[in-house]
Amino acid sequence: MKPITPMQWSFLKRYQGALDSKECLSKRFGGDGCDGRIVHAHMIPRSQLAQIAVQGHVHAVPTRLSPIAQMKRSGFQAEDIGIGNFSTLQCFCARHDKNLFAPLEDAALTFTREQLTLLHYRAMAAEVYIRGNAEDAAANEARKYLSSDPRREPFYQAFQIHSLAAIAAEENFKRTENMINLSGYDEIRAAIIRFDATPVLLSVGAFRPLYNVVGTKLQNFSEEAAYIGMHILTADKMPVAIFTWLKGERPSKRFAKSFCLQPYKELTTLAVQIAFEYAEHTCMRRDWWMSISKRWRALLLNRVETANRAAWVPDEDFLSFESLLDDWKCRSIDFVN
Ligand SMILES: [Zn+2]
Repeated sequence: MKPITPMQWSFLKRYQGALDSKECLSKRFGGDGCDGRIVHAHMIPRSQLAQIAVQGHVHAVPTRLSPIAQMKRSGFQAEDIGIGNFSTLQCFCARHDKNLFAPLEDAALTFTREQLTLLHYRAMAAEVYIRGNAEDAAANEARKYLSSDPRREPFYQAFQIHSLAAIAAEENFKRTENMINLSGYDEIRAAIIRFDATPVLLSVGAFRPLYNVVGTKLQNFSEEAAYIGMHILTADKMPVAIFTWLKGERPSKRFAKSFCLQPYKELTTLAVQIAFEYAEHTCMRRDWWMSISKRWRALLLNRVETANRAAWVPDEDFLSFESLLDDWKCRSIDFVN
């Protein structure tokens, strides 16, 4: 195993710096009243993390560049992460983080239209923030080389990929923000899938579904690509998977419907696969992770590894599986139209 060279370390540090840029996203499209200080905003509420934590820690695959660079040499692994440090992004100021998300943080999750809109908004904010920073970081590196230099190519390619995602994500984010500013939540759509089990995994993410869960093509990556938000949270101490999208986004609706049409006993396995495939913020109870088969652990870690390549595009059978991973016993599916 080749060690990481000092030059690679300094590159990683510089690149991570660009990925960690601080910005209150509520300002991006004309909001005001920032208090100036950018906080480490939690994408998954601490109160939720505490429900699956063991001695204050959850188990997750690290998402920062330096552990990823090391894991690319030694193999991808999940490790213990303190809940104070898990799933935080510097994308809101203290005031907006508190005020915007109070209906999620200070009240029980009952999936009102307002709560669903806020869940969607926060998942989209994470995507806008991550893609925008990845675009900037890649552009900064690409600029260092002449266009004829082959070393420029991977950065230029990454720049184009993230830029396309950022444009589509910002469009969706703007629409969602508009609903929040007007306190009118009629454009939010959702599928809420409730399970009957002890929660072992939490996840938040937003992605552009290319195929539905049985491999039917839904869309291409374009500037207008539809986004879907995906959460695995707990309500009444039981797991709930929530898909959110905006009115008129047909590929997202078709993705959610195809998920809900599968046999109940397969829904847990599908949800966990989607969480590992797409969601930057997925964590679990350590003992659950150790209880699943070695083969499943390898498959899920492989998903994270592939998803970490900028140019990776899922194919039509990316969600197929031969054996069940787990079954949290789905008890109901509700749609918000
Ligand atoms: Zn702010």
